[in-house]
Amino acid sequence: MGARLAQPSMKDRMKIGKFLVQRIADIDRSAHPAARAFPHLSRERMQAHAKRLGPRFIDPETLDIFLSFHTYIVRCEGLTMLVDTCVGNDKDRPSRPNWHRRQGDFLVRCAAAGVKPEDVDIVMCTHLHADHVGWNTRLVNGRWVPTFPNARYLMAEVEYRYLVDKVARAGAEANHDCYPDSVLPVVERGQADLVSLSHRVAPGIHTEPAPGHTPGSVLVHLEDSGEHAVCVGDLMHHPLQMADPATPTGYCEDPLAAARRRVDFCGRYADTHTRVLTAHFLAPSAGWIKTGAGEDGAYRFEFDQD
Ligand SMILES: [Zn+2]
Repeated sequence: MGARLAQPSMKDRMKIGKFLVQRIADIDRSAHPAARAFPHLSRERMQAHAKRLGPRFIDPETLDIFLSFHTYIVRCEGLTMLVDTCVGNDKDRPSRPNWHRRQGDFLVRCAAAGVKPEDVDIVMCTHLHADHVGWNTRLVNGRWVPTFPNARYLMAEVEYRYLVDKVARAGAEANHDCYPDSVLPVVERGQADLVSLSHRVAPGIHTEPAPGHTPGSVLVHLEDSGEHAVCVGDLMHHPLQMADPATPTGYCEDPLAAARRRVDFCGRYADTHTRVLTAHFLAPSAGWIKTGAGEDGAYRFEFDQD
């Protein structure tokens, strides 16, 4: 802990009615090949996106896309909830070099925002991919233990059963082998609550089913005093998808269903007061869907600048 300790930026703090929401990054920005993320987009279309969004979001030479991996800390009335727990430390992820045995300062960043592990009451998993459950656990004396000792970890039962089946079929290939190190230890300690896809988490917080990216993906709605925000998990990964929402991604388990759901979501919330809290757009990561993306796009993402 030195002077370089990342202080939470005011830009990463939002108020949504009674909720104070703070974004904390595990990985601020990393490059990912467009061919893997968006195999159906032509090089010309990617170049057009790169030109429109600029080099912060898409490398103009390689056309790699840049993503962030972060959590949202949601606080109100004595309740502290984390939505997703990013990549984590010490995890064996040999096929993803920048995830593999990471040594990040996520917990230091949370502490700087006033949240210690024992303060967390609820960990809400939008789905059980490796980059959303990493900090569910940490390595202590060679064993994976829940990072948040007092938390209930909420995961959709559909998602959990699907992952268990996938592990039985594919073993370590399933979700970068995150089950044994990031999901099972929480279940074994009795801290997991397997819930329905439509779950009332707490007053003003509920989930909505969003199968597509994974069968048990959920959106997390925050509503109070006429204000509304949605944590969308991996319903979308990059702002270029606002212009091309129907384009399937290479990250989704059912890419066409995920694309249909994204199109529907954009249509539902474009040009409304609903704030969209994304899981992978670069900081500030939250903002609004607006119609019109220049000459040939469906929508654009207007980032929160408060
Ligand atoms: Zn993800």
